[in-house]
Amino acid sequence: MTDYKNLIDGEMVDNGEWLDVLNPANEQVVGRVPACGKDELDRAVAAARRAFKTWKKTSQEERQQVVQGIAAAIKDNADELYRLLTTEQGKPHQQAQQEIYGAAGLAAAQSTLTLDDVINQDDDTRLSRTRRVPVGVVGGIVPWNFPVMMAIQKIVPALVAGCTIVLKPSPFTPLTTLRIAELIKDVVPAGTVNIITGEDHLGPMITEHPDIDKITFTGSTATGKKIMEGASGDLKRITLELGGNDASIVLPDADVEKVAEQLFWSSFSNAGQVCIAAKRVYIHKDIYDDLSKAIAEYAKTVVVGDGSQQGTGVGPIQNKKQYERVLELIQDAKDNGYKFLTGGDKDPSGTGYYVPITILDNPPEDARIVAEEQFGPVMPLLKFDTIDEVIERANNSEYGLAGAVWTKDTDKGVEIAEQLETGTVWINEFMQLSPFAPFGGHKQSGFGAEYGVDGLKEFTYPQVITVKRDAAV
Ligand code: NAD
Repeated sequence: MTDYKNLIDGEMVDNGEWLDVLNPANEQVVGRVPACGKDELDRAVAAARRAFKTWKKTSQEERQQVVQGIAAAIKDNADELYRLLTTEQGKPHQQAQQEIYGAAGLAAAQSTLTLDDVINQDDDTRLSRTRRVPVGVVGGIVPWNFPVMMAIQKIVPALVAGCTIVLKPSPFTPLTTLRIAELIKDVVPAGTVNIITGEDHLGPMITEHPDIDKITFTGSTATGKKIMEGASGDLKRITLELGGNDASIVLPDADVEKVAEQLFWSSFSNAGQVCIAAKRVYIHKDIYDDLSKAIAEYAKTVVVGDGSQQGTGVGPIQNKKQYERVLELIQDAKDNGYKFLTGGDKDPSGTGYYVPITILDNPPEDARIVAEEQFGPVMPLLKFDTIDEVIERANNSEYGLAGAVWTKDTDKGVEIAEQLETGTVWINEFMQLSPFAPFGGHKQSGFGAEYGVDGLKEFTYPQVITVKRDAAV
């Protein structure tokens, strides 16, 4: 077991109080991290405030170089990092590798983003120009499902925009992030990036801290609402990436054999603990029987187990609380007599938070397992008849994160996509996010956006400077 320290003001530090971190595959303690409170937060914020004075004046090239250094540090140590990530998060090695390389790739790509000045007026009367200025010190709060990717997607745009940051990983998955902190300690100027760990109560302290100017948060909708409330005291800027209940819509012309495997992974990747996983799969009645059978057949080939073992496709649920919630939803489906194509029949026992792959056969639309975000290895298959009907059913949700349409007729797919009330819609693919396109939820799935120029702008204020050209002075 290793102790991992926090990064404050360019130093790896601890406060002598520790939190245990478990491996969800066997419930053994795999590391300890500092249990921080207000004192450590104040020190980190003060360091970020000091660093901001110089960092905000750096050139685009200097910032780009630092961010590329972060990308290189992650990539050069990918083997160590992905193994550690599996140990604390549970995801299979191959998916952990994708997260680590994905985070390095995101940092490298987003280092190239720029916010150019905009000329509003340029004539004999006046020159008016909008420039973007960094908001200041950012508080970043991240969840446990993609701990590294989420940390990087907050640290990188903050730095590129000229801000400094105090980041809080989830208490369930802080280890890989703190190892990255150690690797980038001498890559980033002291105080620009601070990473501190603590239990959930550290979150509201960040949200309400008077010397933090902006909160960027990824997590549940319930916590997002508390953050909005906490940040309202001094009108902090906020970006919230929250929950989703994404619908996939499969039209009758889709090739059953080809889409079955893709649909499976759109729901079961990372054991379903993905905000943009397909959580409701609507299949046209003409192909429903064949496709549901093909998905259930494919599911039999996928191994649920310890992510560090070769051949594992679906790992454990990341933590006990989420494990119990997923089991509760499955129990509710059993109690209501819904039909299972697979799963639901085994009672998980022994150590590790394992849930069998669970596929439901056309449960009612108002079933809890359909209407709520499951965030686990659960896939309700739902039968539909007409396009109008399925669009209405897909949109009947408080969430609006993403969705997908599967069809050979891509024009038709786009026509349906334009009627879905979500921030992203894929035609014939899933979970593809571009570093250059805005990613954000409609309705209760979020507030603002990350990624791309739109995401970068959220770390800045617009400042308009006008020069009167025909002034009598
Ligand atoms: P969570 O909201 O419980 O916790 C997220 C983070 O917030 C953790 O670091 C936690 O310590 C902190 N936190 C808890 N209470 C807080 C408070 N009152 N104030 C401030 N911070 C607080 O979420 P989770 O269970 O870790 O993650 C799962 C959720 O995240 C799911 O709903 C999922 O859909 C969502 N998610 C969304 C996206 C997206 O981009 N939209 C991505 C990944 C996960």
